[in-house]
Amino acid sequence: MAFVQAPPTLGNQYSDDRVLRAYLERTLGMEALHSVRPQLDRMGALAGGELYAQQLAERELEPQLVQWDAWSNRVDRIELTPLWRRAEEIAAREGLIALPHEAPLGALSRVLQFALVYLFTPSTDVYACPLAMSDGAARTLAASANRALIERALPHLVSRDPAQFWTSGQWMTEPVGGSDVGLAETEARFAPGEGWRLYGRKYFTSAIASQMALTLARPTDNAPGGKGLALFYLETRDAAGRPNGLSVDRLKDKLGTRKVPTAELTLDGVPAIPVGELGNGVRAISTVLNITRVWNAVSAVSYMRRGLALARDYAARRVAFGAPLERKALHVDTLAGLQAEFEAAFQLTFFVVELLGRAEGGAAGEAQQALLRILTPVAKLTTGRQAVAVLPEVLEAFGGAGYVEDTGLPMLLRDAQVFPIWEGTTNVLALDTLRAIAPSSLAPWRREIHAIVAEAREPQLLALSARLEAAAEAAEAWLAANAGRDEAALEAGARRFALTLGRVTAAALLARQAQWSLDHRQDPAPRAAALRFGAAGVNLLQDFDPELARLLAAR
Ligand SMILES: Cc1cc2nc3c(=O)[nH]c(=O)nc-3n(C[C@H](O)[C@H](O)[C@H](O)COP(=O)(O)OP(=O)(O)OC[C@H]3O[C@@H](n4cnc5c(N)ncnc54)[C@H](O)[C@@H]3O)c2cc1C
Repeated sequence: MAFVQAPPTLGNQYSDDRVLRAYLERTLGMEALHSVRPQLDRMGALAGGELYAQQLAERELEPQLVQWDAWSNRVDRIELTPLWRRAEEIAAREGLIALPHEAPLGALSRVLQFALVYLFTPSTDVYACPLAMSDGAARTLAASANRALIERALPHLVSRDPAQFWTSGQWMTEPVGGSDVGLAETEARFAPGEGWRLYGRKYFTSAIASQMALTLARPTDNAPGGKGLALFYLETRDAAGRPNGLSVDRLKDKLGTRKVPTAELTLDGVPAIPVGELGNGVRAISTVLNITRVWNAVSAVSYMRRGLALARDYAARRVAFGAPLERKALHVDTLAGLQAEFEAAFQLTFFVVELLGRAEGGAAGEAQQALLRILTPVAKLTTGRQAVAVLPEVLEAFGGAGYVEDTGLPMLLRDAQVFPIWEGTTNVLALDTLRAIAPSSLAPWRREIHAIVAEAREPQLLALSARLEAAAEAAEAWLAANAGRDEAALEAGARRFALTLGRVTAAALLARQAQWSLDHRQDPAPRAAALRFGAAGVNLLQDFDPELARLLAAR
């Protein structure tokens, strides 16, 4: 018989995940974990079983835009893939949007929600995208004073009944700008008796099959810039199910996230309702963005975990030069470096999830709120960059098979490439990090790093902690040396600075988890991850002459 290579397989993605289980034990405590374990087990089994199998089987399917019906009526219907339709049902039933509103674990409900999202996401073809925006929309509406909208839309967004469940889009990007959204040209016109209607073009609208959207538009005669924009609520279909004053011009032909129907739209009189004031829209939509950025970080982490789960399994099955790859020291060393990146990303992201839950539950003091504001862009940009560094290595760990479409592996890499782009690119978020720090200074972050690393007692973790404190001090010194003095140097170094904050925070959290795992689980693996990640470099600060940079980047 000719040789046939056994493919990689996945088991229950909850029970197989040492990192997730230990983290939940530490943060939730055994009693609370016991109460939610059946749900985690169920999602883990689905993610590693039926959903993964369906994902592979549907690899070549894509959503379709049907613009006309048989009788030449413009319908602009989106036909989703079967896995997406199933994902919507599961998301509703499992309460992936409802959980933080039901709050079964109080301020820790966000941890449960995102643990489920982390299991669900890599097996559902980026269905996390509409969910993220729906979560952000639900929180934005809940925090608004608009009773009518709260009563109209919120029950749908947080419903556990798939027949009632709605998702929401977040329409910001226009042809003129995505990052610089203050340039937006969509106009909101008011007509007595008719209310507000929107006119313009939206260039990337990812949840175009959603029932509603939050969007930005400029009321006629408002000032230019972000302050002149207002946040509007709209429904995408009228009572008869027809497009509600908009047309779907086309679906984007994208590198990855191909199951996500991302559309270009023309708004030609869409009825819309202001969520709040008729201005300051960019500020108003920031609640949505802060939540979608956390979803992005969780998704990036979950993709790294999925790639590594497959690569580790394959390393046991693939034999080269007389032994399985898992017994080849260099292959083991390669996977170990990737695992350390993933574990660091995991700890950083779930720490932000904890902060978010505390802030929403009113349990976060001023310092924790400042920390959440700083670490949200930091976690998003750090994990986005990690995902696009780890996943190419994951593909390489499969050799040629990693490059072949029907293994399902290339899709991981293509999908992951979006994590550093949408919801704010790395550079845009690095600058946002500087803005986040300006009012509060770095002091809350420095104090938190000090408190986290103070938990380390094991000698090598102690040595790592000292290095992390030094790196945190260096970051503070760099900021003090540039802020308000050399704006060009500050801006040019913003990415290295933000990544340093991300890597120092992640390493500190890993060290804390490592000490806890030694004490409570006699598990040395998180310690190995902390030491490995710490050795890979956490302090990326380095100043380069902006003149030389200009020379290098010139056309
Ligand atoms: C698959 C996909 C789905 C999307 N879905 C949605 C959606 O549903 N809703 C929505 O509103 N948007 C969506 N987007 C749009 C996305 O959020 C934007 O593309 C993104 O924010 C970047 O904006 P831009 O494309 O205008 O890039 P630009 O702003 O033109 O950025 C180009 C480059 O310039 C850099 N840059 C920009 N400003 C600065 C600066 N001040 N300093 C240094 N560097 C800078 C950026 O980092 C980037 O590298 C989606 C995008 C993709 C790819």
